[in-house]
This record gives sequence, C-alpha cells and structure tokens, in this order.
Amino acid sequence: MLTVATSTLRAPVWLFDLDNTLHDASHAIFPAISANMNVYIARVLGAGGVPASQAVVDAARLGYWKRYGATLLGMIRHHQVQAADFLRETHDIGPLDRMMRAERGLARLLRRLPGRKILLTNAPNHYSTEIVRRLKLHHHFSQHVAIEHMHVHGQLRPKPSKLMLRRLLRRHGVAARRCILVEDTLANLKSASQLGLRTVWVTQYLRVSDFSGQGRRAPLPRTLKLPGYVDVKVKSVRQLPARLHRLR
Ligand SMILES: [Mg+2]
Repeated sequence: MLTVATSTLRAPVWLFDLDNTLHDASHAIFPAISANMNVYIARVLGAGGVPASQAVVDAARLGYWKRYGATLLGMIRHHQVQAADFLRETHDIGPLDRMMRAERGLARLLRRLPGRKILLTNAPNHYSTEIVRRLKLHHHFSQHVAIEHMHVHGQLRPKPSKLMLRRLLRRHGVAARRCILVEDTLANLKSASQLGLRTVWVTQYLRVSDFSGQGRRAPLPRTLKLPGYVDVKVKSVRQLPARLHRLR
C-alpha cells in the first residue's frame, strides 16, 4: 500500500497549454483571431465612428503585449474593455473544422504519460472546449483552466502570471517540483521555472512572426538557443515519453 501511495504522490502533474502546443493554431486560427483583434481594437481606439489606423492598432497591440504580456490586459486597463466582450468577438471565427491542424496519436500519448493532466490555456473557455473536443482529448484532462478562470484578487491574471500559477498549485495541493508545464510560449515557461516547475518547450508550430510580430511565416531558425529555464525542448509533444527521464 505504501508503495502505491508513494508512487501516486510522486507522479507528475502535467499542465498542458493548448494553442500551438496540442494543435497548429498558427496555421489558420491565429491569423483569423488576429484579424478580428485588429478590427476590434481599431474600433475601440477610433474616434467619431472612424476606426483607428493600422499603425495605431499595431503600436497598441505590441505595446500592451510587451507591457502586460497580453493585449487584452492593456485594453481592459486603458480602454475599459470588458474581457468577455473582447474574447467573444475576437474568437468569433466561424466553423473550426477546416481551420484545424493537429498530429495524430495525441490521445494515445496522453494515456501513456503517468500522472494527472490539467489543460491550462489563456484562450477563452468556449473556444478551448471546442478545440479540445475536436481533438478528442477532453477525456484526458482532469481539469480545464481557461482565461476566465484566471482571476486573482478580482483581476485577470493569465499566463505568465506567477500569482495565478501559485494559486493554481495551492488549489490543487501540489508542490511546484511535481508539476511540468508543456508550452510553446517562452515567457510562460520562464515564470513557471522561476516558481520551481519543470518546463517543456514545444517548438514545431512556432513561427518567426510569433516573436517579431512582423507577420513573417518562416519557420524558426534551427540554431535558436535553448534558454536556461527550459528543461526539455521537443518538436512535438509526442516526444515526451522518450524524454520523461529528463523531467524526473
Ligand atoms: Mg500556446
């Protein structure tokens, strides 16, 4: 009995990101959301019924993203935008079936990985629920934490918020050392690592444009340096079982 209890205690708790980790959001979904964001922000920043110019929108998006880690947080703070309204409009991108692209074998992979899995996504609940269902992975997650569930002291605190992550660990009663965050976004891996979580960087769906915001769709350079806060780098989550020993 003791061995069973001990091994259960030692089993990792996986925190899986969704977009560009479990499916290729850069293929068609992110461009569609991004276009909706431009329209939304242009309307909010416009005056007298005239939308703001693309240059003004670009500057706001980049500025808020750099300052707050998310454009939405800047829009809430400086333009009294309602999060629910912003998320609903920007994620209104029509039927998802023809926009989705993902690898096969992900359900089998999740089954093979020991320990609990929690879906932790900065995307809204309705969108991420639909994606994870279409991927047929929803049964593999014991919890689904979407951006609506990331409030701390009444403020929206999405990834990479350490406050939010700490609270999540407390709520689930797990030590940081037992958790493994699997993600494409480096800023999120960095803050998780600072709290003592182990980190896996998934790279196959990243584009140069995700870093520079310049809209280029070239693949990442192969020489991209591995940051110290990344414990394991994989192209695909399907490589996780083979790299598990590096995360123990
Ligand atoms: Mg992601």
